[in-house]
Parts: sequence; structure tokens; C-alpha cells
Amino acid sequence: MSIARIKGFADMLPPRSDQFTRMENCARDIFSRYGFVELRTPLLEFTELFQRSIGEETDVVQKEMYTFPDRKGRSLTLRPEATAGVMRAYIEAGLANREAVSRLFTTGPMFRYERPQKGRMRQFHQINCECLGSQSPLADAELIIMLMRFLRALGLGELTLKLNSLGCAECRPRFKEALLNYLRGVDRHALCPDCARRVESNPLRVLDCKQPGCRALTDNAPRLADYNCPDCKAHFETVLSMLRAEELPLELDHRLVRGLDYYCRTTFEVVSGSIGAQSAVAGGGRYDGLIRSLGGPDAPGVGFACGMERLALLLGDGAEQRPDFYLLGMEEGGRMQAFALAQKLRAAGLRGEMNFSAGGFKSLMRQAGKSGARCCLIIGPDEVARGDVSIKHLDSGEQRSLPQADAILYLKQTGTAND
Ligand SMILES: [Zn+2]
Ligand SMILES: [Zn+2]
Repeated sequence: MSIARIKGFADMLPPRSDQFTRMENCARDIFSRYGFVELRTPLLEFTELFQRSIGEETDVVQKEMYTFPDRKGRSLTLRPEATAGVMRAYIEAGLANREAVSRLFTTGPMFRYERPQKGRMRQFHQINCECLGSQSPLADAELIIMLMRFLRALGLGELTLKLNSLGCAECRPRFKEALLNYLRGVDRHALCPDCARRVESNPLRVLDCKQPGCRALTDNAPRLADYNCPDCKAHFETVLSMLRAEELPLELDHRLVRGLDYYCRTTFEVVSGSIGAQSAVAGGGRYDGLIRSLGGPDAPGVGFACGMERLALLLGDGAEQRPDFYLLGMEEGGRMQAFALAQKLRAAGLRGEMNFSAGGFKSLMRQAGKSGARCCLIIGPDEVARGDVSIKHLDSGEQRSLPQADAILYLKQTGTAND
């Protein structure tokens, strides 16, 4: 019996793997224009890193991490998200001493032991950006503008940027108290069971519950923005005015909250209407206390994460790159010449493959057609004798014969190259 892959883990073949490559290449192109450099962190970290950065009380840490002891009994965890590892690397490399602002992006797999019935993958992929070292609202605005540019460059339509300001350590406690007073006044039985519990443990999360009953009850709840201190207000106003200047489709959303204490001020989410229902494709915000809480310098930060599986759902298959040729060598002699010619075509930048084994002409032509190539190049006994190659344009059926030495020039001149 063959061995199957693990549930929740996917093999990616084209067109899916092409989509992922396209997303990564697009990210590299756009982010590098803004000075972001790529950071690759290990997939495996000490468990304590995630306990401290994500928080012991979260579902991620309590139920969803792939945690196991190594051979020396140390507790290790497959990263459930990227930010913690980026922060650790930032601290360990001493980047704060080397540059005023660090702009880092990372892409790759994350792991969460989620219930499979939710349809989520246990290995999923993200693109993450973190701008570290600046408290300025310009950092928030630039990161968000860059994210929107990236999503548009991918061809995503109907984007809405949702924003909220979470306030700071000074003003948020006053909001929490007002919210708590409000929630204690509502009928606890009208809330969903999760929210009834959250009222005392994490009241902010009641605001972003998706249940209609909970939403109705929190429509008139106090709003974070009304409790922001003057500094937080000024920060948010600056971010908003810079985003408006770029004519981004923004929408204030008082339900946009984050459960953890180190999140502060700007928080955002991008939703796309590309496949009918609104679906969140990216989210992020400012987290000024996180690096210090991990034992690093008192460096502020702002960042976002994009779920690549979610993005892939919204992307078309895209213009696939057609191979330039399929080289068909008939009989042993033809295949030997075809092999040599194939190497020359590729050295010249052309893309394509050849048949390795013998076969009937018809079935070999079928293979050529299947490959999607623009041209089929044929070297049979006649061509071998003359040092020629026959070139058949697979779309038009047009065919001609020419010396093998002229094949590169011909393929390039007939516009079949992908450049
Ligand atoms: Zn404040
Ligand atoms: Zn609820």
C-alpha cells in the first residue's frame, strides 16, 4: 500500500503552484520598491516564543499549535504565524542598532492543528510584512498603501480597506471599562455562548463576533475611536488623510479589534468582493509593545499578513507561459540530434521539452499538443540526413523546413519566445 499525505497538508501542482509563484514574485517586486528586504526564518522555534508573543490564553497557543519535544526534551513548535519569528530574528540580529527602520517581509508555510471540518489547511501559507522601529503614522500609511498596491497588482478587484484605531495603553483601559459596563447591562442570554464567556475575559472580542444576535446587541456599544486620547486621535487622523490622498477605498469599522494587549492604534483589514461574498484577504496593525515584551529593545512596529490560500481563490489561473517548442525526435538518430538541438534552444532562452522514447508519429504529436507549445519541431530520418528541422506551428498548422542552425533565430523572429 502506498503512503498518503497527512490530512490538512496539500501537494501543490500547476496551476496552483504557478499561482503561488506569481503571488511571491509580485510581492517581491512591489515590496522591494518600498525598501522591504526578504527575511527567511526557521519553521521551527522554541515553544516559549509563541507562548509569549501570541499569548497563553489564545486558541492558537492552547489548541492549535504543532508542539512536540525534540530528542533532548526541549519543547519545539512549528510556527503558527510569522510575526513572532521575525521579532526574534530582529532582536537576535541586533537590527535596531544597525538601522533606524527595518522593513522586512517573509513568505512561507505556517502550521495550525485546526479542525478539518472548517475546511482549513493545517499547513497554510502567508506573506508577511513588518516595518519596525518607527512610531510615525507615515509608517502605517506607507505599509497599507503598499499592501493595496500589491493586491491590485495581483488583479484583485472590489477591495475595501477597513480601519479602526485601538488606542494605546493610556486610553484603551478607559474604553474597556465603558464597554464592560455596557456589556454587563445587556441580557447575557441574548449573547452567543462564546460571547457570554468573553464579556469578563476579553470583552473587546464580543465586538467582532459574527453572530447576528451579538451584533445587534453591540450596535450601540461604546466605540473605540470615541475614547482615543489626543495623541492616538492625531495619529489616526494623519494615517487616514494619507490614505485618502491615495484615494484608497476606506471604511471605518468600530468592530475591528484585536484581542492582544500589545496591539495599539491603527488596525486594518482588506476585504475583497471578487468572488461574491466579502472575504478578508489581509489584516494587520500596529504592535508597539511586542518587541520589548520578547526581551528586545523598545522598538515599535506595524505589519500585516496575507493568507495565500485565500488570495489564490480570488486569482484567476492567469496567463500561463506557453513553452516555445516541443521537439520531436523520430527514431534513434533523430532523437540524438533533437537532444543536442534542445540544449542549444534552451541556452538561447527558449523554453520547451522533447520526447525521450520512441512512439508513433500520431501519439508523439499528441504529446506535443498536450505540452501547450507554440511550435512542434520535428527531426525525422529526412531531416537527419539534411541537418534540417521541420517546424509546425501548432495553432495555425503552418509548417516549414529549415537548417537546424537557423532554428533559434526563426523561433525568436516568429515571436514565439516569451520575452
Ligand atoms: Zn491613546
Ligand atoms: Zn457572539
